[in-house]
Amino acid sequence: MQVRFRLPSGLEIVGLPTKNFYGGFWDLGPTWNYAVFADSPFLMDTGRFGQGHKLIELLDFSGISAKEFEFVLISHGHEDHDGGLSEVLQHCNIKVKAHAIYERIIKLYPDHAPRGYKERFPAKCWQCNMPESFYTEHCLDYHQALQHIQIEGIADGENKIMSGVTTWHLPGHTPDSLVVMINEEAIIVGDVLLPGISPIPTRIAQFNDVSSILCPEYTDPETIFGLQCYIRSLKKLRELATQCPDLIVFPGHRLYYNEQWNHINLSARVNELLEHHVQRCGSIIDILKESPMTDSQIASKHFEQKLLRGVGRFMAANEIGSHCELLLSSGDITVADDGKYHLTGKLNFETFIDSIPVA
Ligand SMILES: [Zn+2]
Ligand SMILES: [Zn+2]
Repeated sequence: MQVRFRLPSGLEIVGLPTKNFYGGFWDLGPTWNYAVFADSPFLMDTGRFGQGHKLIELLDFSGISAKEFEFVLISHGHEDHDGGLSEVLQHCNIKVKAHAIYERIIKLYPDHAPRGYKERFPAKCWQCNMPESFYTEHCLDYHQALQHIQIEGIADGENKIMSGVTTWHLPGHTPDSLVVMINEEAIIVGDVLLPGISPIPTRIAQFNDVSSILCPEYTDPETIFGLQCYIRSLKKLRELATQCPDLIVFPGHRLYYNEQWNHINLSARVNELLEHHVQRCGSIIDILKESPMTDSQIASKHFEQKLLRGVGRFMAANEIGSHCELLLSSGDITVADDGKYHLTGKLNFETFIDSIPVA
């Protein structure tokens, strides 16, 4: 499948879905990559490792030569978005743009890596939740292929990368997430906002692993990691939606899913996601009324059993961990030396979430 969209200005965006590996109950659906025919045509994302050639085939089938692109822009450093990058570059030697943090975290730093198996992996893996068995089986070849790619780093905040095309650095799902606005008519949001599923936030604690290679530029973990940071980014999306109320939203997954097209109303979807996080904080508080628990223990009570199978267990614990970090900041819980969270008797989280400023 490939889908051609013509914006009111006449500019064309072609949606190119590629197969995604993660199935089961945490299924995201295919990765949606996009060809954007702006003044300088570019490709946004490349699908997962092994899908780069498929993407080239899809482009050929649409009558588009990948050599027409001036560059490829990476929305964020997750394998389902940049995995196909090395294959695309083998086919056409174009420039690569991504957030400046992406350029740092795809590289190996043997002197800075945590001891053990992670020494063989780049910085972006030092803060991944998956176990060694998963990494070693799925990720080594992919990371090696990215080592020698030259990246043109895009700075924080708002950046006009050509006439009518602006990027915003909206971290939280990953530290390097970018969204791209085109002609104030469309916005490609990557995994910052998805229909039907809430993007997994990072945890502030993940900053510690990579701080040695991100400092001195980034000293405050909460500016690039964690749920609070993610909520700031969501609020920025809502602000953009208020400025441009008719934006067509192109997500990194589920533009088309379960035989239906997902039309996204950006500010309504931001509000749903904010409400989802408020609800989840409320559920955690309710679970902790039973007794103090660790994030994994809370996860096993909060999520259905089918969501805790295989790697689901790690995703669930991460999800709870990021909410517990927010509840620690709001003063509603404390954490003991054994990693168990205790209630403080306060219920500040809702006002706390409301008062998080816009990114
Ligand atoms: Zn994704
Ligand atoms: Zn992602």
